[in-house]
Amino acid sequence: MAVYVLGHKSPDTDSVTAAIAVAELQKMLGVDAVACRQGELNPETELVLKKFGFDAPELRTDVTGEKYMLVDHSDIKQAPDNWDKGELLAIIDHHKVGDITTPNPIFFCAMPVGCTGTVLYTLYKDVYKKDIPANVAGLMLSAILSDTVLFKSATCTDEDKAAAEALAKIAGLDDMMAWGMEMAKAKSAVEGVAPRDLIFRDYKDFNMSGNNVGIGQLELVSLDLVANMRDDLYAELEKVKAEGRHSVFLMLTDIMKEGTDLMAITDDPSVIEKAFGVKLEGKTVWLPGVMSRKKQMVPPLEKAFGG
Ligand code: MG
Ligand code: MG
Ligand code: MG
Repeated sequence: MAVYVLGHKSPDTDSVTAAIAVAELQKMLGVDAVACRQGELNPETELVLKKFGFDAPELRTDVTGEKYMLVDHSDIKQAPDNWDKGELLAIIDHHKVGDITTPNPIFFCAMPVGCTGTVLYTLYKDVYKKDIPANVAGLMLSAILSDTVLFKSATCTDEDKAAAEALAKIAGLDDMMAWGMEMAKAKSAVEGVAPRDLIFRDYKDFNMSGNNVGIGQLELVSLDLVANMRDDLYAELEKVKAEGRHSVFLMLTDIMKEGTDLMAITDDPSVIEKAFGVKLEGKTVWLPGVMSRKKQMVPPLEKAFGG
């Protein structure tokens, strides 16, 4: 019976490449593992898969009656549908522990690092003692460059940098920063994309003290790229909020200037002031130094919501 490996909904490069890297590792261990994705690939992930010669993993968003593993998340809201009607065997992650529980003991490995790729580097090398194939190393390296925003994010640790250096060697990539910049440009592709698709390209729903809160993020090499799209994005965010959410945020993150212009639509604008110490004036507020949803958005917002 196949074991499916899935990253989170609105998949990013880490979620897709970690699913592939775990499936490859499991195959080495004799498990019939299949990498999956829970949604459309973003342009950055497409570029990464192409460069290292992988096809898109199969699309799967329901695990009823299946054996499965999760990577890059452990939150119910990001997990496949009917997660509790299949058998969860493993979670490999680098986020706060989410709300998924199991009736049986499972393999659970989470590390406070910037990327699942870094956790996987440790698993391959130190836990299972397997050589990482060059093309898989390329995927894991790309995930680290993506998740840590070229090592600039507050989530980036020394372990991420060390893993990236080692993986670049295995992958035979001489200039990983140049490759990272190529990826960042691909990630910045917004022209001609529908506002709704941009909002959900890298998006997560959270339950914050009983409030449904959605946070999307666009990592851009320049905010000029969205200058003439802001009104359309805002109008679409209002629709997303109206679909049963207390607040919806869109992080327009400038990876060169290292900060986020936060678009916010909320029933209670005071949460912005409570979380970030600045007032929402108009539609957005500039948050200097903020690049990470996981580390710089979610914790202060959860606190502001009284969690
Ligand atoms: Mg992710
Ligand atoms: Mg990740
Ligand atoms: Mg990310």
